[in-house]
Amino acid sequence: MTDLPSRTNLMDLDREGMREFFAGMGEKPFRGDQIMKWVYHRGVSNFEDMTDLGKVLRAKLNELAEITPPKVMTEQISVDGTRKWLIEVQGGAVETVYIPEPTRGTLCVSSQIGCMLNCTFCSTATQGFQRNLSAAEIIGQVWLAAKALEHCRKTNRRITNVVMMGMGEPLLNFDAVITAMGLMRDDLGFGLANKRVTLSTAGLVPAIDKLSAAADVSLAVSLHAPVDEVRNQLVPLNKKYPIEQLMEACKRYLVNRPRANVTFEYTLIKGVNDDLALADKLVKLMRQLPSKLNLIPFNPFPGTDYQCSDEDTIKAFQHRIKSKGEFAAVRRTRGQDIDAACGQLVGKVADRTRRQAEHQSKLDLKSGIGIPVQVEHAA
Ligand code: SAH
Repeated sequence: MTDLPSRTNLMDLDREGMREFFAGMGEKPFRGDQIMKWVYHRGVSNFEDMTDLGKVLRAKLNELAEITPPKVMTEQISVDGTRKWLIEVQGGAVETVYIPEPTRGTLCVSSQIGCMLNCTFCSTATQGFQRNLSAAEIIGQVWLAAKALEHCRKTNRRITNVVMMGMGEPLLNFDAVITAMGLMRDDLGFGLANKRVTLSTAGLVPAIDKLSAAADVSLAVSLHAPVDEVRNQLVPLNKKYPIEQLMEACKRYLVNRPRANVTFEYTLIKGVNDDLALADKLVKLMRQLPSKLNLIPFNPFPGTDYQCSDEDTIKAFQHRIKSKGEFAAVRRTRGQDIDAACGQLVGKVADRTRRQAEHQSKLDLKSGIGIPVQVEHAA
């Protein structure tokens, strides 16, 4: 038996896939359920530790299957409690960020190594596109974070929400993202409520319709401008799917979801999209459907000419939206000292040396505060 087929990574399979896999092995399909509980409820990845499986089955599984999450290369912890993991995947690295808040804990997960959409204000774009992540590499980020945070569904629920807002455009990695989001919501997986899993897209109109049929999750749309002329500059994809088409797709997404709304993300960039006249136009769009707005102060990164809007401008923009009766929140920038904020995720290992040097100098400046700013360990 020299050329055994390669082993199936069970983290690539959802509940249905697991049942089929076990049926294909001549085993009872419920074995799939049993293993999912070991993996996602108890964080176990070794068949030998699954004590309710017989010896023969364990041996068979060792031959045909594996449970292989990606590897954590480094973990950084910000002064504000935000954590960022650099995750090693074949051919590169991606970043995963955990944002603790008083009433919830949000995990921001990557879907691709790099990105092909070239949004001009996003640092992920500067690294180009390498490849799609597998379902195992996506759900594996949740699995690793859950382990690092000692998340337990019953006693220590650290991860309450997952947002597909890390590196990449999730709708361009459709199947793997659907499988992974299924595992996030499945009771045998992480058991999150549908609305607590959010997919964020730059606006791939046909794929939004496809998503609507494939999964019931919350939808966020990276809008960034209410008029095509400005949005074309920021999100080149807008030239293919302009705002009007995007709005129609958002409305269709809500048709069978009476209690849901669409979250618009809007990065505020000085002198580019922060004029109050644009806020008025934005309100007109928001009135077309149940929606809310997240304003994100632009996070600069090396090589960008854009700047963040002034604090007063941000407040005035938010106030204008609210004064017209629409919901607008300013997303406080988190984890800035560890480059964990929106648009700062690059996952480049080569970048680390520079960043480490920067953090070290920041740490030196802050020395004496006595807060452990950064924990690093090799995986
Ligand atoms: N491709 C998807 C998922 C990435 S989400 C999408 O576009 O929605 C990342 C979020 O951070 C998006 O809303 C993105 O537009 C925003 N963002 C990107 N770069 C940023 C930056 N430099 N400052 C602030 N927000 C940024």
